[in-house]
Amino acid sequence: MNPTPIARALLACTLLLGAAAQAAAPQVRTQAPGYYRMMLGEFEITALSDGTHPFPIDTVMTHIGPEQIARDLDQAGLRAPVQGSINAFLVNTGSKLILVDAGAGSLYGDCCGKLLDHLRAAGYRPEQVDEVLLTHLHKDHAGGIMAHGAPAFPNAVVRLSQAEADYWLTPANKAAAPAFLSSFFDSAAAAVAPYGKRLQPFGAFGRIESGIEALPAPGHTPGHAMYLVQSKGRKLLIWGDIVHVSAIQLPHPDATVKYDTSEADAQATRRRLLDMAASGQLTIGAAHIAFPGLGRIRASDGAYQWLPLNYDGAPAAD
Ligand SMILES: [Zn+2]
Repeated sequence: MNPTPIARALLACTLLLGAAAQAAAPQVRTQAPGYYRMMLGEFEITALSDGTHPFPIDTVMTHIGPEQIARDLDQAGLRAPVQGSINAFLVNTGSKLILVDAGAGSLYGDCCGKLLDHLRAAGYRPEQVDEVLLTHLHKDHAGGIMAHGAPAFPNAVVRLSQAEADYWLTPANKAAAPAFLSSFFDSAAAAVAPYGKRLQPFGAFGRIESGIEALPAPGHTPGHAMYLVQSKGRKLLIWGDIVHVSAIQLPHPDATVKYDTSEADAQATRRRLLDMAASGQLTIGAAHIAFPGLGRIRASDGAYQWLPLNYDGAPAAD
């Protein structure tokens, strides 16, 4: 029997109401756990997000004017404040589990400090980490080694350059530094304190482990280190704070941040590393380029471009 026109209209109303009910599902507004895996030769690399925070570009960037910043951001389709990623990298060599940088811990508030959750979601436990290698002792790289006054990685040795440890852990330097850095000295000392003798700075750059080398990258901080990871001819350079805002510092590598200890050294180091990255088959692991912060650098017309790695849903090989 065919439905009457009234029955047809009722059916249409019911369908419309059903569609409206589906559209009213509450928005969720969370992200998936922030980890991303890649293979580097025989090493497994897991990029870990500690979170993102609104990077205060207008009060932090130096050696670049507000108009140029606005043009650079516009060129990248961005507007201030830009969400800045805090990334760390876990290297499983097959015999050791090594974390490079550890995020902010509790020091940046609710935005961040997610590294431990993401490490667990990635299939590891904090007590499995053998070594934490720090690029430098700023809050958003070293804050996460400590949790509630205890080591966040209870079985790990913490390593960083001796120059970096000397600078931030010497009280006289705090007195001589600008006031806005005072809390950085305090948080650096608090982060490493629970490790006692397991804080083991290296006096000379060079080999840390088989396949992992520490290299100097001074300027942002006096003893800023980066870590070159190599396996089966593949290379990953985990470079710490060489680029803070890629939309600005890749087109304008001379743009610095007020936290740089030596702006001139920071500029020279950034240019040297961007040239090195652009000329070699080098994957970069970047602390503050959009998560997972894994990509390559291309040089073009005196500036540089970031080429993110292609997403690989089954990273059995690189
Ligand atoms: Zn820094």
